[in-house]
Amino acid sequence: MWKSSRVRHRTNVAEDQARAILVTTLYAQPASLAIGAACGILTSATAATESHNSVITAAAGVLSIIALARVAGARWLPRIMPQGSRSLEIFYETGAFSYSIMAGTIAALTIHYDVSGPIRTLMVGNAIAYSVGIAARNAGRPVIAIVQLTLALAPVILAAALEPDLPSRLLAFTLFLVLPAMMSITLNVFKTLRDSISAAQTSQRLADKMQHLARTDVVTGLVNRAGLNHHLVERLIARDGNSKLAMLWIDLDRFKEVNDTLGHQFGDRLLIEVAARLRRGAPSGASVARFGGDEFIVVFDANNQPEITRLAKAMLADIQRPIRIDDHRLDIGCSIGVAIFPDHGNDLDVVLQAADLALNQAKLNGRKQIVTFTPSMTRDLVHRKEIEADLRLAMQRDELSVFFQPIVDLESGRIRAFEALVRWFHPEKGELRPDEFIPVAEETGAIITLGNWITGQAARVAADWPDDVTLAVNLSPLQIRAPGAALAILSALREARLAPRRLELEITETVLLDHSPNTAAFVETLTQAGVRFALDDFGTGYSSLSYLDKYPFGKIKIDRSFVSGIAAGKTNAAIIRAVSGMGRSLDMAIVAEGVETLDQVEAVRAAGCTQGQGWYFSRAVPGYIAGMLLEQERHRFAQKSPSEHSEMAPSSTQALRSASLKAPYTHNVNHKKAI
Ligand code: C2E
Ligand code: MG
Ligand code: MG
Repeated sequence: MWKSSRVRHRTNVAEDQARAILVTTLYAQPASLAIGAACGILTSATAATESHNSVITAAAGVLSIIALARVAGARWLPRIMPQGSRSLEIFYETGAFSYSIMAGTIAALTIHYDVSGPIRTLMVGNAIAYSVGIAARNAGRPVIAIVQLTLALAPVILAAALEPDLPSRLLAFTLFLVLPAMMSITLNVFKTLRDSISAAQTSQRLADKMQHLARTDVVTGLVNRAGLNHHLVERLIARDGNSKLAMLWIDLDRFKEVNDTLGHQFGDRLLIEVAARLRRGAPSGASVARFGGDEFIVVFDANNQPEITRLAKAMLADIQRPIRIDDHRLDIGCSIGVAIFPDHGNDLDVVLQAADLALNQAKLNGRKQIVTFTPSMTRDLVHRKEIEADLRLAMQRDELSVFFQPIVDLESGRIRAFEALVRWFHPEKGELRPDEFIPVAEETGAIITLGNWITGQAARVAADWPDDVTLAVNLSPLQIRAPGAALAILSALREARLAPRRLELEITETVLLDHSPNTAAFVETLTQAGVRFALDDFGTGYSSLSYLDKYPFGKIKIDRSFVSGIAAGKTNAAIIRAVSGMGRSLDMAIVAEGVETLDQVEAVRAAGCTQGQGWYFSRAVPGYIAGMLLEQERHRFAQKSPSEHSEMAPSSTQALRSASLKAPYTHNVNHKKAI
């Protein structure tokens, strides 16, 4: 019922629109009205002067006044009255009807008063021509046309029918037949006109609908990329010279996880909720768009940077409020990149790209934050692109090598493991830090080949070490998700003749975030084979303890950001103590990363760490120096009595430290430098 009333409403609207258009046609050619009026005045004036008949003269006067009023009205009224309005139509009707009846009446009077033949012919002809012409001209409003036709011809028919002579009566009869014929023609013309108008309207409506669909995101109902482009162009045209246009590029942090674990329908509902929050949080008049996936763009006018930052902060906080869908409570983080037109570019695409770069930076900085574009980001991008291109050649040109940093037992001072750390000595740029090129390798997927190469190289070196020294290798998330990743590692170990139990894979929490079955299968296969796992950089991510329960970690590596301040700050010490206590009860080794001073060694040991890694002991060194360190250690411990072995005196650490510091770090081949 609701639907049918809606259809009826739509039909009425369409009819009203068609009617308005047709009313407008009445005034469409004011010139034709003027010519008609001039002819009417001229012919009736002629009839008046030639007939010397006072009734005809009076009628001619009335007709002339009406004709002049109509011409004047047609010229002025459409300017002061709304187009197609009923008042315009009424004015036209009044003028048209009175003019028609006067034209017909004057012709009838020339018949009635038996005015001279030519004048009678002139006026009768004039009335017939007018009525037939008007029936066609005003077909857009058929009622008006038919009434005009009838009013102009009826007096002539009547007067001719009352004449005694046969030709006059025949004229009456013929004109009588003209009436229905012209009516039918008028109605036909009207129907054709109306149909074509409504067909044009229907296709316009369809075109509008298609355009709307093409510019709308079906999931959220927000505009999509095409829609946003359209909005942006409109905004640019409407913008006044001083105002700024803020562009916020928003990315949800854990959307993929939600989509993968809870399903796409759930993901869609989450997107709908985020879209609603953005709509609510954006200032009125803002354009809010979804750019596919979990990315949204909000564009709004702003006066200054603090205003933009304030709004962006409010939106970030709103999205990060827990979202409840069915029985699930979701905590979705988000990152926002901000760029401003025209501060960051004179072209919308450039500013949008700037917002994207800022977003990328927000993600690199650790997500859940707002970053505003700075020109250095473009330089970084260029730098990253260069690295991407160079990295492909680096492996072929033998510019990469694997270095090893010892991980020392804080009790005995012995080296328990070496962490393999990749080094790139670029022929022009010098040494590049892994932090610069590993993320690029991860983005491009090159990390899979690179990672396998590192594992193979490191395993070959480690195969020469004593049996109780472990090799630790870092793994990137993408490496784990690659098909056959576990088998690739096992075959690298086989080739290098390194027992799987001597390999320890360092993974960060981000690897585990996706909870994907692939990750679980990867860990399971390698654990079965004897490979061990360490949780790297603990304390930098979510630091969720649930991973420790789910995955078989034998070691937790506390990030160096906690270690660096431990000697001075109490809070860090308390955190390390808590993690160590937990590690002990779960039978895990706790490694303090980035130990640089003796004070730190003592502090982390006192806090319960069992192992240490850092420059205090040794920097990462080439494989042959790692071998030398182990050799020196063997000699040192062989010289000591068994009782001395058990205690980890700072002196033994010192010994390793001085031994490694004395070691020849610069090995001339390829001028590679240990760091
Ligand atoms: P990470 O796994 O946490 O590695 C430890 C980082 O701390 C290394 O940086 C090491 O040189 C540095 N480090 C060790 N001791 C100290 C210290 O006392 N003070 C300071 N300030 N730093 C110290 P590096 O080699 O630059 O590596 C950085 C990160 O790059 C690594 O962090 C790891 O996440 C990644 N990475 C390095 N090599 C590889 C690799 O072969 N594969 C993968 N996937 N990632 C790697
Ligand atoms: Mg590591
Ligand atoms: Mg680490």
